[in-house]
Amino acid sequence: MEKNKFQNPSGMHDILPQDEFYYQKIYNTGQKILDFYGFEKIDTPILEMADLFSRGVGEATEVVEKQMYTLRTKGKDLLALRPEGTAPIMRAYLQHGMHTWLQPVKLWYFGPFFRHERPQAGRYRQFNQFGVEFLGEKSPIADAQIILILTAILEDLGFKNLVVKINSIGDSNCRPVYKKILLSFLKNKKSELCSDCQERIKTNPLRILDCKNAKCRQILAEAPQTINYLCPECHQHFKEVLEILDEIKVSYTLDSHLVRGFDYYTNTVFEVELAPVKKEVAEKKEEEIIAEGAVPVEAPKVEEKEELQLGSLAGGGRYDKLAKSLGGGDIPACGWGIGVERVVEAMKARKMKPNEPVVQVFLAQIGILAKRKTLRLLEDFRKERIRVAESLGRDSLKNQLARADRLGAKYTLILGQKEALDGEIIIRNMENGQQTTVDQKDIIKEVKKRLQQENK
Ligand code: AMP
Repeated sequence: MEKNKFQNPSGMHDILPQDEFYYQKIYNTGQKILDFYGFEKIDTPILEMADLFSRGVGEATEVVEKQMYTLRTKGKDLLALRPEGTAPIMRAYLQHGMHTWLQPVKLWYFGPFFRHERPQAGRYRQFNQFGVEFLGEKSPIADAQIILILTAILEDLGFKNLVVKINSIGDSNCRPVYKKILLSFLKNKKSELCSDCQERIKTNPLRILDCKNAKCRQILAEAPQTINYLCPECHQHFKEVLEILDEIKVSYTLDSHLVRGFDYYTNTVFEVELAPVKKEVAEKKEEEIIAEGAVPVEAPKVEEKEELQLGSLAGGGRYDKLAKSLGGGDIPACGWGIGVERVVEAMKARKMKPNEPVVQVFLAQIGILAKRKTLRLLEDFRKERIRVAESLGRDSLKNQLARADRLGAKYTLILGQKEALDGEIIIRNMENGQQTTVDQKDIIKEVKKRLQQENK
């Protein structure tokens, strides 16, 4: 076939039907847990006023400065494809007077976000995030509870070995003091830093702490740590968060270099990563080579390679000053966002299967009368909530039975020309090939009975 002229835009991807099961599993697992914890779903527009992010997330952040997709409308408004979910939700909270609701207001969302980043493994320009915002609560219990919920969702999905990294970056009281100390530490090291970090000295010095460049990391290993410069309130808050996490048995690692990319964060910041799985990469194992008749001169080494690092699966923190920066009042809040694509990739790397719907019954037909009756019968099964697959476009029974087999159906119902006329239908056990003829009007009862027996 001629190569298709149109491809998806770089960094944006189609989610094909077989992958949709992963997305659904993540959605359903999260929804169940968030329902339990009293979170309610909210959807905000894909487009927002660009200013919302410059003010909320911060003018000098990479996301706003370099990665935001903006457009000018015919009415001359400057809009942005939302790069993150927290500022829009705080905007909605303020706009709809949610501060007058019973506090805290606990919300969750699931949807696409857009950042013009360099596409690479685990990094897209359009990606989905699944997130929560816990608004109107300043107690450290909220910080600890959202971390607990985040790990519960990832564990329910089947992940083990979660690494929760946590830090406190203080607030507008103590952070400026820390910034000064950090800048004086960096004073004589500027020329050794990467070009991005040299720029960050002017714009966003805290981000230097989590630069991934090896040389910068080496220099920063000796840097003063935020937690040693917290004011008494921030110190107390962080201490309590850690004490609660200890008490509820959520393990964590203190990471003095964790700062996160958005200006709205205050106090607690955290990320969740997975301990990488080992992958065998040797082309052939020794036994295979011997089986092929070759004599190995030397036993081939089965190398172990680290899984491609996708970065963090989720990140979040407290953002007590965001509401004020958007013109609102004092609204303490915290939240997190899970990168759904990264979770899907990690599930695949660990061979974790989403629950694909199980087809237990297949409805095969031969002849035009049978086809028509099948349509009616399908509706009867749907009303009884019994999942039935069919292949109405096909005529050959062999072909239909092969499809039933491939789908893993336990029973195939066969409606031939004779059965269609006589008001009967054949029920075939796909495991042992046994066939019984039953009255069409009794078929649902019979299928139910057999499926119940299977489940015993
Ligand atoms: P952030 O909104 O930057 O705090 O990121 C929260 C989570 O979203 C990260 O831990 C990632 O899992 C995911 N994420 C952020 N940026 C991207 C991206 N460009 N592509 C895919 N996932 C992303």
